Amino acid sequence: MTIISPENAEKAAVLPAVRRFLDRTPSMLIDGSWVPALSGETFATVDPATGEELARVPAAGRADVDRAVRAARDALENGPWSRTTPAERARLVWRLAELIDENADELAQLETLDQGKPLSVARGADVPGSAETFRYMAGWATKIEGSTIPIGVPDTLVAYTRREPIGVVGQIVPWNFPLAMAAWKLAPALAAGCTVVLKPAEETPLSTLRLGELIQQAGFPDGVVNILTGFGETAGAALAEHPDIDKIAFTGSTEVGRSIIRASAGNLKRVTLELGGKNPSIVMGDADLDRAIPGVFRGAFANAGQVCTAGSRVYAHASVYDKVVAELTRRASDMAVGPGLAPDVDMGPLVSSAQFTRVNGLVGEGVAAGASVTTGGTRWEGPGYFVEPTVFTDVRPDMSIMREEIFGPVVAVGRFDDLDDLVTQVNDTIYGLAAEVWTRDVSVAHHLAAKIKAGTVWINGRSMDIALPFGGFKQSGWGREKGAEGIEAYTQTKTVVITL
Ligand code: NAP
Ligand code: MG
Repeated sequence: MTIISPENAEKAAVLPAVRRFLDRTPSMLIDGSWVPALSGETFATVDPATGEELARVPAAGRADVDRAVRAARDALENGPWSRTTPAERARLVWRLAELIDENADELAQLETLDQGKPLSVARGADVPGSAETFRYMAGWATKIEGSTIPIGVPDTLVAYTRREPIGVVGQIVPWNFPLAMAAWKLAPALAAGCTVVLKPAEETPLSTLRLGELIQQAGFPDGVVNILTGFGETAGAALAEHPDIDKIAFTGSTEVGRSIIRASAGNLKRVTLELGGKNPSIVMGDADLDRAIPGVFRGAFANAGQVCTAGSRVYAHASVYDKVVAELTRRASDMAVGPGLAPDVDMGPLVSSAQFTRVNGLVGEGVAAGASVTTGGTRWEGPGYFVEPTVFTDVRPDMSIMREEIFGPVVAVGRFDDLDDLVTQVNDTIYGLAAEVWTRDVSVAHHLAAKIKAGTVWINGRSMDIALPFGGFKQSGWGREKGAEGIEAYTQTKTVVITL
C-alpha cells in the first residue's frame, strides 16, 4: 500500500463554493426554513482523512422530529403539494436532477471531505448516479396507474384501483454513499407524491444538507422534504416510533433494522429495510480471469469495502485459486491509499474512527483464528482512518471474517472443487443481498443464479442501474428499492367499487 500523506492532500483545491457552504454553519431543513435544534445542541462532522472537524450541525431531538413530522403531514394533507399534478411532480424531480448536475463539483467535494472517498469516484459515480436516480424516478411520476377490474354482471358494477401515496415517510440513511442513498430514498417518495423527513447518518450530513438547498431551489413546496441531522439513537429512533409517520425506509445495519421493526409496531407503519450482506464472489474454473479478477477486486475494495453488496467472501475453483489469490494480492498491495482530495488516489480512509476500530478488530480476529494474510493487515497509526487493503487465505467457514459483514477493504478467499458443495457454503449465511459469479458456462450461470439465495446475482460483472429492483433475501432486508417496485413501495392500493 502506498499511503499518500494527508498533509500532501490538495486542500488548497477546495472550491470557494464548498468553503462558503462549510462557513455558513449548516442547519436543518424544517418546513422550508433552515433552523437549529430546539435544544441548541450541535455535533461535529469530521474529515476522515485527518480526523479534523469540518463543520458542526444541529443534533435533532424528539421535539425537532415532532416539528418536522407536523410540517410533512401538513404539506401532504393541506399544502400545495396535495394539489400538485403528476406532471408537475415529474418536472420538479427532474429539475432537482439538473441542479445536482449543475452543482456536481461542489457536491462531489463535499462528499469526499465528509465521507473520505476519492474525488474521482464522488464526481464520476456518486453525484451523476444521484442525478440519474432523480431523472429515472421523475419518469414514474406520470405513470403510477391503477387498473379496472371486471366483476359482476356487465354494466352493474364498476371496480377500479387507485395507487395513492403512502403518506408521510421517515427515511434513515447510512454514510457509505450519503448523497446516492438520499437520492434512492427521496426520488421515488417524491415521484409518488409522499412527503418526507430524512435523516442522514451522523458521520456524513453535509451533501444531504446541500441537497436540501437544491430541493428548495428546484421549487418543492415547504414541508415536502424535511432534513434532520442527528443521532440514530435519538432522532432516528424518534422517527421510527413516531405515531404520525406512515412508513420508514431504512438502510443500514441488520441490528438497527431489527430495532426499526420493533419501533414501528406502535402504529404498524410500513417498513422497508436495506440491510447488510456477506456477499460471495465466485470464480469458476472456466472464467475469463482477465475480467474476473479485476471484477472481483473491484467488488471487494470499491469504496474501501464500505458497500452493502461488497464481495467480501471469494470462492475460487481449485484450478484457478492460486492465480486468483496472487492477482488479488498484487492489486491490493498496489493500491494508492490516501485522502480523497489528493490526486491519483485509489482508495480513501474509512468513514470514522468507529469503523476503523471495528474493521481492524475483525482483521485481528481473522489472524487469531489462523487465517493467513497475503497483503495488508497492519494497523495504520494515523492521522486519519486508513486501513490497508487486506487479503486473507486459509479461511474456514466458521471464521468471523467469513461470516460477518466487515465493511472495510478486506477480502477472504476460499477454495472449492464441487458445485453442490459451493452452493451449500455460499448459502450458509444469515444474509442474502447479492452474489457475483464468473463463468463462461451458460448452464452453470443459470444454475447458480437459481440456487443462490440473494436479491441480486451478477454473472460476469456488476451492473447497478436504477431501473433494477434491489433488495435482500433473508436478513438482508424487507422489500425492494429502485425500479418499478421501488415506486410501488411508496404507494398503497385503494379499491373502489361502484354499484350502478
Ligand atoms: P447503523 O447504525 O445501522 O446506521 C445507519 C443509520 O441508522 C444511520 O443514519 C444511523 O444514525 C441510524 N440509526 C442508528 N441507530 C438507530 C436507531 N436505534 N433507530 C433509528 N435509526 C438509527 O450503521 P453504522 O453503525 O453506521 O454501521 C455499522 C455497520 O452497519 C457497518 O459496519 C456495516 O456492517 C453496516 N452498514 C450497512 C450499510 C448498508 O448499506 N446496508 C450501511 C451502513 C452500515 P447514526 O448515523 O447516528 O448512527
Ligand atoms: Mg464526516
